[in-house]
Amino acid sequence: MIKIAVDEVLRWLASLDVASQTHVEWLKHVHHMLLFHRAPDAKSMVDDSHCHCVFGRWYLSPTSRELGHLPGLIEMEVAHREMHASASVLLAATLETGAVPEPEYDAFMNRVIRLSALIRLVQSEAWALISTKDPLTGLFNRRAMDSFIAERRDAPAGSVVAICDIDHFKRVNDTYGHVAGDEVLRQVAGCLREQVRAQDMIFRYGGEEFLIVFSDVDLTLDAALCERLRGALAEREITIHGSHTIRVTASFGVATLSDSGDFLSAIVRADAALYRAKDEGRNRVAIAESPTAPSSTLPPSP
Ligand code: GH3
Ligand code: MG
Ligand code: MG
Repeated sequence: MIKIAVDEVLRWLASLDVASQTHVEWLKHVHHMLLFHRAPDAKSMVDDSHCHCVFGRWYLSPTSRELGHLPGLIEMEVAHREMHASASVLLAATLETGAVPEPEYDAFMNRVIRLSALIRLVQSEAWALISTKDPLTGLFNRRAMDSFIAERRDAPAGSVVAICDIDHFKRVNDTYGHVAGDEVLRQVAGCLREQVRAQDMIFRYGGEEFLIVFSDVDLTLDAALCERLRGALAEREITIHGSHTIRVTASFGVATLSDSGDFLSAIVRADAALYRAKDEGRNRVAIAESPTAPSSTLPPSP
């Protein structure tokens, strides 16, 4: 699960565009040196020339390190280093003989082409990464949720799903405005993420609704975890407009897959349980009815 914010990745992609553009200008400069016999500039001739260009500095940025797991990124770094190394070989050979040697020129241009292909690959990897994230909360979005469910359509039973819905959220918007509402959504999402375990997944299901997938088989354990989540949320002081603090509560519907065998029907049952939690007073966890066991609602702990 990536922790990096969508906005940060977007800024990183924009700076990759700028860095790539400076390479096009550098390429023109190299061709001037080759065609019009300009003296090579010192920066293009040093061994670590790849570190001195804008692209090299972009690559060393903290965001690039955080996204180091993107498969194309390491290959791109190698291709960039090799492109600069072959430019310096080409320029040195041209300087020595007074003519542009074809094999060195071809080797250089092949590396230029390879680097631009790898930049496109990295861009598409980064876009794919952020297309699964909700920009407001940083949680996985509905698209990621749909593909997660589709991938596990035939998975064996053994997960618990919970739907969490903020109580009377419309009132938050109506009372404090939508900007404050957005801040509440961000902080609720942060609170949920802090409370669940690394193996659990949280998706922003809808406006103020979240789907949590617990990868356990133990409904009792996960219902207790939801109860802890509910309590943590109710106690949390949420700062809005920089200074004012408010509290919100949420209701939860929980269902296990072991009864139904597939995610969609577990979600339907969790949703029905959620409605019950709302009907019974909100700020509570309701466990879905199953064909074999009677339903129950956990009252909020005192
Ligand atoms: P209940 O306890 O029954 O769930 O009541 P509720 O007010 O939470 O539910 P309702 O469905 O009436 O209202 C949900 C509100 O959530 C309405 C909508 O404007 C707001 N909302 C949905 N998405 C966003 C968002 O991204 N930002 C903000 N600020 N509000 C949102
Ligand atoms: Mg709702
Ligand atoms: Mg609600």
